Amino acid sequence: MTLRIYDTAKRAKRVFEPQDPARITLYVCGPTPYNYAHIGNARPPIVFDVLRRVLASRYGAKAIVYARNITDIEDKLIAASLETGEPIEAIAQKFAKIYNDDMAALNVAPPTIEPWATEHVPEMIEMIEKLVRKKYAYVGAQGVWFSVSSMPDYGKLSGRKPEDNEAGARVGIDTDKRDPADFALWKFAKPGEPVDAIWDSPWGRGRPGWHIECSAMAAKHLGKTIDIHGGGIDLQFPHHENEIAQSECAHGEVMANYWIHNGFLDMGGEKMSKSLGNSVLIHDLLQAWPGEVLRFAILSGHYRAPLDWNEDLLKQAKTTLDRVYGALRRVWDQEGGHGGEKGLARALSDDLNTPEALAELSRLASEANMAADHKDPDAMANARANLLAAGDLLGLLTQTPKAWEQGVDAGGNARIDALVQGRIDSRAARDWAEADRIRDELAAEGIEIMDGPSGSTWRRA
Ligand code: AMP
Ligand code: ZN
Repeated sequence: MTLRIYDTAKRAKRVFEPQDPARITLYVCGPTPYNYAHIGNARPPIVFDVLRRVLASRYGAKAIVYARNITDIEDKLIAASLETGEPIEAIAQKFAKIYNDDMAALNVAPPTIEPWATEHVPEMIEMIEKLVRKKYAYVGAQGVWFSVSSMPDYGKLSGRKPEDNEAGARVGIDTDKRDPADFALWKFAKPGEPVDAIWDSPWGRGRPGWHIECSAMAAKHLGKTIDIHGGGIDLQFPHHENEIAQSECAHGEVMANYWIHNGFLDMGGEKMSKSLGNSVLIHDLLQAWPGEVLRFAILSGHYRAPLDWNEDLLKQAKTTLDRVYGALRRVWDQEGGHGGEKGLARALSDDLNTPEALAELSRLASEANMAADHKDPDAMANARANLLAAGDLLGLLTQTPKAWEQGVDAGGNARIDALVQGRIDSRAARDWAEADRIRDELAAEGIEIMDGPSGSTWRRA
């Protein structure tokens, strides 16, 4: 069974052929940890986690070297630090941990390597020096710029012209570029910027641009040419285009053999994003739903197509998972079967067709139910093995059926606990209106709060 994936660069589904089957390299652009991540931000890590599982099932888990960086040098972090007065490092540490906890709750395995930008500034400087030496870059008054016209095939990934870079250029700021399409490799420090965002360089104090961070970290940990580079479709241009420009001009080698981009998670017909105000935080969703429900919902759409996030999608995911876990429960005690199921692996091998794979999962649940109806121990054991193998590939069914049933409840209870705690905090802050609002919200769900000498507890009325 060949694995075919859609390569954005070649605009076609291609058979995946690694450079070295014993060391398959995958780089995915990671988060800027300045705030809680929304569920749209979870789409890339979930999609690439499935890809990693598919690769591991073919080449062995040890062969997969997966790097997902932490972008802890970035304007949004600087802004957050200026706003809160907290050091950048403290903010980044805090939200990177929250991000990784969120990922764990979504059954996203940690990457093999998690490079942090702040730990790779020397490598970035070295790469910029090389670009300057080779005349792909020049030093201006505000920073070091990559000269887009120096690279004949600039734009090959996205098919966009250098002028499109101007769309993101703010008038009056980029005045010392030779060409408005040129982009920053190094930005000189401006007055008022936090000292922890400033590094020495041969050209002057400042910080690296976002694009060079990924180019330098990918080369250091995975090599000059990597097998697969991935991220959300919004990163294709200019971020990935610029990564290619930097890496290929510095190294004289192809940066990545395959480029994979996921489509957007939408809400209300628009890309979910913090700036549009239509985002839901993973952290909040996890108070009300098990992580596997969120993961199932994300995987219910094909990764390249837009997917609309709404309550129905979640309810549907929950209903289906309940049914699958219910079937698993009926065959749970019949250990020792051998899975011979191929449909699910076939679906995933065809450009990660997860909707088809989830349909297969439901079919396997029906088989388990049928085997249980017939009280056929061999069929039950095989159905169990098939379900668990399918779950392994998708990152689902990681709980026992019993824990699932209890955990669903616990998820709901955690949300109520959080609300009750919120009411206690409001009362301590003498915010009676908010305390009453929370009490009323819970009352509407049939939950009664009992205030006693040792604190507040709750019960279902
Ligand atoms: P950002 O926080 O915007 O830098 O995004 C971090 C990662 O999440 C990038 O890989 C983006 O492509 C991805 N991303 C952001 N918003 C969405 C969305 N609504 N749907 C899918 N991916 C997204
Ligand atoms: Zn990147």
